[in-house]
Amino acid sequence: MWLTARQLHGALAGRVLTRSDFRVPRFATADLTGQTVTETASRGKHLLTRTDAGVTVHTHLRMDGSWRVRPAAERAVGGHRIRLILANDQWQAIGYLLGVVEILPTAAEHTAVGHLGPDLLGPGWDPAEAERRLRADPARPVGEALLDQRNLAGIGNIYKAETLFLRGVDPWRPVGEVTGLAPLVGLAQRLLDANKERPGIVTTGSTRRGEETWVYSRAGQPCRRCGTPVRSADQGRDPESRVTFWCPHCQS
Ligand SMILES: [Zn+2]
Repeated sequence: MWLTARQLHGALAGRVLTRSDFRVPRFATADLTGQTVTETASRGKHLLTRTDAGVTVHTHLRMDGSWRVRPAAERAVGGHRIRLILANDQWQAIGYLLGVVEILPTAAEHTAVGHLGPDLLGPGWDPAEAERRLRADPARPVGEALLDQRNLAGIGNIYKAETLFLRGVDPWRPVGEVTGLAPLVGLAQRLLDANKERPGIVTTGSTRRGEETWVYSRAGQPCRRCGTPVRSADQGRDPESRVTFWCPHCQS
């Protein structure tokens, strides 16, 4: 999300919008042309594009969404999948199948994203506050707690599985029984930071196909450390249930 925000920021910030095309019913008549984009920031998985008129365009990719930045003169393809176009005289940012598209006053951003915990890649990253929030529900399995964006924002399913493997922590261990929660969160932050400028996610140090992760998406394959088959199972309550991966020998 950080990378997407940076791409949008690079294309839009400091330039006057010459076109805004909201293809969602609620904002179909909205028109931001003439406003200057001041920045695009990410907050967890939310993207916030702010203008000098005190307006924020809040988007979220959810499952299938994506943004593409193209030259302004280019004809946008994939019309029926487009939910939003923001353009200036040089660039157009085209949002496909976005799960959330809304306009709100910048001053009211907290109503959309304020429930989020500290952002691992944000300027105000606060590991102590993240740890406090994680420990507030000590019986909760650590794999679930790490994914709850109200505790801390930015850890996706891959980082969760990989961080727990690297720290030797079973995803089902109650978060109250995890020692070294601060270094665990610190490691997740470093993994995110190391990957923020590339499209894929690598935690092993190898970018070769099939070697990028320790346990994520490797169910049934031998653990890279001990050879025990990697296990997978759904974790969490619907609708937040996510498949997790772990080595039953290396993680306890
Ligand atoms: Zn192992």
